Amino acid sequence: MRAPVTPAPVVSLRAHCLRNEHTLYDPDHDEHSEASMKGRVAVLPAYGGKFELREYPVPDPEPGAILIKLTRAGVCGSDLHIWRGEMKEIYGSPPRDLTFGHEMCGRVERLGAGVSVDSAGQPLREGDRVTFLYFFPCGRCPVCLRDEMGSCPRKARANRVAGTAPYFNNAYGDYYYLRPGGFIFHIPDEVSDDVATPANCALAQVLYGLTRAGLRQGDTAVIQGAGGLGLNAVAVARDVGADRIIVLDRVASRLELARAFGADHALSLADLTTPERRIQAVMDLTGGFGADVVADFVGYPDVVPEGLKMLRGGGCYLEVGSIAPGNVFSYDATALVRGNARLVATSNYSPWALAQALAFLRRNRARFPFERLVSHVFPLAQISDAFQEADWMRRGGDGLRISRAALSMAS
Ligand SMILES: [Zn+2]
Ligand SMILES: [Zn+2]
Repeated sequence: MRAPVTPAPVVSLRAHCLRNEHTLYDPDHDEHSEASMKGRVAVLPAYGGKFELREYPVPDPEPGAILIKLTRAGVCGSDLHIWRGEMKEIYGSPPRDLTFGHEMCGRVERLGAGVSVDSAGQPLREGDRVTFLYFFPCGRCPVCLRDEMGSCPRKARANRVAGTAPYFNNAYGDYYYLRPGGFIFHIPDEVSDDVATPANCALAQVLYGLTRAGLRQGDTAVIQGAGGLGLNAVAVARDVGADRIIVLDRVASRLELARAFGADHALSLADLTTPERRIQAVMDLTGGFGADVVADFVGYPDVVPEGLKMLRGGGCYLEVGSIAPGNVFSYDATALVRGNARLVATSNYSPWALAQALAFLRRNRARFPFERLVSHVFPLAQISDAFQEADWMRRGGDGLRISRAALSMAS
């Protein structure tokens, strides 16, 4: 399914701010008695430190916009990179009243004038459970025209300086202000908020990446890394109809989860201690020919040359894991040529992938244990604890559990 491309109406920021001032502070406007409503936003004053919760006035949505009351937000691997200060060239050094977070879902609180359907054409009402894109393809450029909206060079992102109207620009807060033209979809009734939360990042990106890599029925897939992304990839590959799915990870409990998500072979780095042994193991499982698709969800550059050597002739390598700058690898380009290799790298996704991710969750909710992808749910007020715990677990502190934390906005 392809969601229709809705060009964003042009609304000047100044006009928007003026309208907010009006609704928020004009005492003559009785119908805006809720104008005094406030909501919390988590603000990070220093990298690696504690968040502060600040309150901001809840805005009325302008025409075409949607105000969403968030119920859940996820702590994604990239959020941990930001928190640690590993993405300073994007987020500033030091951070300036940084707000962030991008995995989330919630309920429609208020619809702006003119909004009556979601991006799939289904009626949209206040109170409906929804998820949405956290980035904003322009819809009017050659890249968007080619259905590569995740790569749109004019793609707008959230404002990350706390206190910038309309205040609720990111996932770590009580509300989210979906600007006009934003892509939004109903969450199926059968899919819980906990399961839906990572859909707008991890799952949609995995689904989009594997589609671009050309994974299809009957294929053999190698998944490097059984974290949140890798486990979603295993389930998507199974759903697509891959014949054989091989997963590589170091942590025993993750390998056990990989099997629960549909892996045929879960290979441990504890047993296969060198790249050569791991490559040989994949060759042994593929009759000596290699896999149709090999995908990196680790984010450590040394896995790339190793994975490239697991490909069959003409196979496709999918790179998703590397998000922080500096992940340099070295490989013989001649080997790529002689292997007729294809390389696909994926960041973000086209909006149709989120709609398909939600259908995937509905279709497979009883087949795979999605609820096990989130290990801890913290109240928003404990966001600092959520980050410290997720960071500690990601650094291998426990090793027995998945390191995905989520935040609940219910107080
Ligand atoms: Zn994410
Ligand atoms: Zn564009």
